[in-house]
Parts: sequence; structure tokens; C-alpha cells
Amino acid sequence: MSLPPRLRRWADRLADEGHQVYITLTRNRTAMIRIQTLSRRKTSIRLHEHFAEAPLSVLRDLAKFILHRDNTAWKRVVAYSQNITIPPDPNRPVAIQTQGIYFNLARELTFVKKKYFDEHLAARITWGKRGNPQRKKRRSIRFGSWHEDEKLIRVHPLLDQEWVPKEFIRYLIYHELCHAVAKPHQDAQGRHRVHHADFKQLEAQYPNFKEMEKLSQEIFNRLIRERL
Ligand SMILES: [Zn+2]
Repeated sequence: MSLPPRLRRWADRLADEGHQVYITLTRNRTAMIRIQTLSRRKTSIRLHEHFAEAPLSVLRDLAKFILHRDNTAWKRVVAYSQNITIPPDPNRPVAIQTQGIYFNLARELTFVKKKYFDEHLAARITWGKRGNPQRKKRRSIRFGSWHEDEKLIRVHPLLDQEWVPKEFIRYLIYHELCHAVAKPHQDAQGRHRVHHADFKQLEAQYPNFKEMEKLSQEIFNRLIRERL
């Protein structure tokens, strides 16, 4: 991707101040902005292409951070990046894989929707991709995630085990569907809140919620122990 003139000019102004920035535009939705200090006067910046349209104030704040390590300015840049909504890329179809060895996620999703929400709730589900086998010991596993753009739940493939209770899979789906209903918002301090009070209240309505939380920890411990 070539650099839009606006960002080019912005970089040139920083260069005038004696600071060289190397900008790469990305379509990375999870890391909208990544800054790497190369030296005192050189910084590499990976930006989501949406930043090319950012308000001037945001670009100024970013410059303040790069030139003067102004953390207040940086917070405003982060707040801006968290509020960007990017329409889903229609050219990137999602591969849906619901049939596992032990669980059929489509069946469980239908069950959970009907029982606790609305069977017409817009939500799809898939097993996530298995990453490369990790040589390093795992320290975290994200069991599930909700992708609002795609209205999609991804479930970690490690959970497709004989010993994982079906009830846990259902609880996990319930948690992710709570995200579809109790959407993230910004609090008074401008922080992006995902598991906010409304969310937690809804989540806690799940039968045996406390037991499910405990089970979640036990499953996690076992997966770590078995180095899967
Ligand atoms: Zn969550």
C-alpha cells in the first residue's frame, strides 16, 4: 500500500523536526497501531489504513507522542483507534467449520440460542484454526471469541475433547452471545469496556454460572498440564 499524501506530509513534518518515521499501512484489525522505537530519532509505525482518514488532532497527538513521549496524547490516539469501526471485508469470506470430533458447534449454538436468547439472533459459529504446535509452554488459551463484524463466534479447537463437558461448550457459547447482546461501550473515562456491568449481569444469569467458571479454570489447568 502506498502512503496517502496526507500521511506523507505528516511524516515530512516530523522529519523537519529531526525525527524519521517509517510508516507501514496495514489492515490488521486487532492491532490498529504499533509503534517501535528504532533509535532516539527513528520510529517505525504500523498503522491501520483507516488512520489515513484520522482527524488532524489525532495525527497531531501521534506526533506529540513520538516527539515528546506525551502519554496523554497517546491515550487519545488509542481511544480513537478503539472507536474505529471497520466494515467487514466482503472479499474475505469466513471459512466456517462447525463439525468437530466430539462436538457439533452448529447444533450447540442452536440449542443455546433457543434456550436463552432468540433463535433468530444473528450469530454464526466455527472452530478456530489450529495454530502451529507450540514448542513453548502455553500460558493462556482463549477459549472463545465474539467477532461483531462477522457476527461470528470462534471456539478454540483444543476444546474438542472427549473429556470436555458439553455443558461447558454451551456455557462458552452463552458467554459469547452475551457479547452480541450486551455490546462493548465506552465508559466515562473513555475506556473501551467489553465485560462491563450489563454484560456481567447477563452472563451471571446462566444456570450454574459459578460452577461453570470453576469448570473453566479446571479445563484450562488440564490443557496446560497436558501441554496440548
Ligand atoms: Zn468475553
